[in-house]
Amino acid sequence: MSPDYLERIAAIHRELGLASAAIALPLQKEADERSLVRIEPHLGATRDGLWLDPGAALAWSGMHRAATRDGIALELISGFRSVERQRQIIAGHLARGRPLDDILRWIAPPGHSEHHTGEAVDIGTPGSPELEESFENTNAFAWLSGHAAEFGFMLSYPRENTFGVGYEPWHWRFRR
Ligand SMILES: [Zn+2]
Repeated sequence: MSPDYLERIAAIHRELGLASAAIALPLQKEADERSLVRIEPHLGATRDGLWLDPGAALAWSGMHRAATRDGIALELISGFRSVERQRQIIAGHLARGRPLDDILRWIAPPGHSEHHTGEAVDIGTPGSPELEESFENTNAFAWLSGHAAEFGFMLSYPRENTFGVGYEPWHWRFRR
């Protein structure tokens, strides 16, 4: 991670009042946006403008096809997210008066989201509310638990994880 990047992250944290917050999540690299691959609706993208790192995109498309063959609908809810976008999201919650502790339980500080890398995906399935713990009760989650590792995807934030963040059955990270 370059000194410029570290200084940029530190400046954002100062601006948001996070400078003294205890952050257990590791720092993540921000992907070069020019290198990202757009995920199309036939590969499960649920909205416009979902982008992934090329390796993760290839792995996602393979996993999506395999799930489809098994009768499982995987939907891509989010992929790449920039440091700047993460800053805006947290600034918005702070502006609405949400307590910082609560924000940081569910939203990574800018620089610390795996979505910056373009290698993390939030996954949904039809009929299940997005980004909710009840996703763990779906056939899609059961399928992912058995097969995601074959495609290089790992659950990042299991129950009682050591990062101090909430359980996220929908969030998977591609590891090359
Ligand atoms: Zn996520």
